[in-house]
Amino acid sequence: MITNREGLFMAMFPDRDGDYMLTEPGSYVVGANKDVVRIIMHQTWAYQSITDQAPINYRVWTSGTREGRKKHPQFGVSAHFTVEADGRIFQHVDTKDGAKGTSAYAYNAVHIEFASRDEPLTDDQLHYGAGLMAWIASEHPNLRLVVVGESNKHPGDKKQAGITCHSFVELVGKAAHPKLTCPGPKIVDQMNTIAVLASVRAALV
Ligand SMILES: [Zn+2]
Repeated sequence: MITNREGLFMAMFPDRDGDYMLTEPGSYVVGANKDVVRIIMHQTWAYQSITDQAPINYRVWTSGTREGRKKHPQFGVSAHFTVEADGRIFQHVDTKDGAKGTSAYAYNAVHIEFASRDEPLTDDQLHYGAGLMAWIASEHPNLRLVVVGESNKHPGDKKQAGITCHSFVELVGKAAHPKLTCPGPKIVDQMNTIAVLASVRAALV
């Protein structure tokens, strides 16, 4: 078990390849994930040929939060994890804390950014991403590793409890400007696959 300087329990993925923990005030919300019931999948919008996207995410989210808060004090942007194209996993936010990845259902959720610009997840992203999801479920026992919804036309019910994605939660949450293309349709098509892989991994733990 990992504890921070105050001796508080921290939910850090033990198999991570490193971390770029966000520190900018407002980029995440301490303690906002009291009852995690969903995983929200995203794509990074950078091509998979860019091999180290986690430090880029860290820098973009830090500066974006700093800038945005000048006009809107509540503004922030973040995700808990980046999964690189080769399957390496970096953590940015403790899963007990809320990341600001969507304008609906943002909390009690773990946000995962997969390196991709409308490309399908690589085999490594599927494999290691599923392992990450299994660990999240072990840390947060009310999370079920089942897919919510199937497309932007059928984004699932109002609970959004399970493995969902950015566009689904914003459509169901009636966000003013839902991000309809996050993640890309090829990743949406793989949500069932990664959920099955994650369930198998969870059963083996
Ligand atoms: Zn997104």
